[in-house]
Amino acid sequence: MDLLSAIGMVTKRRSDFFSQAKTLASKSKDQPTLEERMKGEAIALVKGYRDKLMKWEEYERTLIDKTLVSALAAVILGVGTDKPEQKLEKSWPVIVGDMLPPLLTFLAETKTYIDSGVLRPGDQTLDFADYDLLGAVPGAVDIGIDELENINPKQIGELEADQQRAQGKTWPSLAERVSRYLATPTFSFFNLGQYMVSQDQGFKEMRRVAKRDKKCCIDCKQYDSMGWQPFGELPMPGKGCRCYDRCRCFIEYR
Ligand SMILES: [Zn+2]
Ligand SMILES: [Zn+2]
Repeated sequence: MDLLSAIGMVTKRRSDFFSQAKTLASKSKDQPTLEERMKGEAIALVKGYRDKLMKWEEYERTLIDKTLVSALAAVILGVGTDKPEQKLEKSWPVIVGDMLPPLLTFLAETKTYIDSGVLRPGDQTLDFADYDLLGAVPGAVDIGIDELENINPKQIGELEADQQRAQGKTWPSLAERVSRYLATPTFSFFNLGQYMVSQDQGFKEMRRVAKRDKKCCIDCKQYDSMGWQPFGELPMPGKGCRCYDRCRCFIEYR
């Protein structure tokens, strides 16, 4: 599916996504629960396609739908009761612009793996339960982000390829990549919701507080050390840092 037809398709169904997102948000109650739920859905979706319970077109459409609905639900959770409808409208172009282009590239890549037989529907030789989702394949070395600081993205790609992780070339590793669309971005969109509320409330400053564990990258530490900055001057968690969707910095406003 090309980007223009995908945008056309999702735009037509926007209000449907909004109402699904409201249901999902009220079922999930908070962002960590939403994230957990979506990790489970990532596995279920990939498993469903692998076990031939659905055709490619359905897999593709479901992944696109769930990615958008999950992001919208995260915004709702971040917004709370402060005019959620208006803020959904405002976040919609951000969500579509952020998520749809990489998602379509990812889907096209998955399709080439299927067409070339790298991924075979019906192949159950690897069990999803053997994988720690968002971890790595069994036996792979868990490299801390500190050790990756001086490695460029291309080298990270090669490293991941060596470890057979994050490549989507096995069904379980595909599920891990799917969850990076369905689950991990919920944190960033939750923050977007909070940002929009803080903007309405007239806060003048913001600061980005890094989670100071060993997984925190130098970019996040750098934002953290900048302290209070004018409102809107700092990127949202997951933006402008090499943790990407796995960033767990939070933003404070005053
Ligand atoms: Zn970071
Ligand atoms: Zn961070």
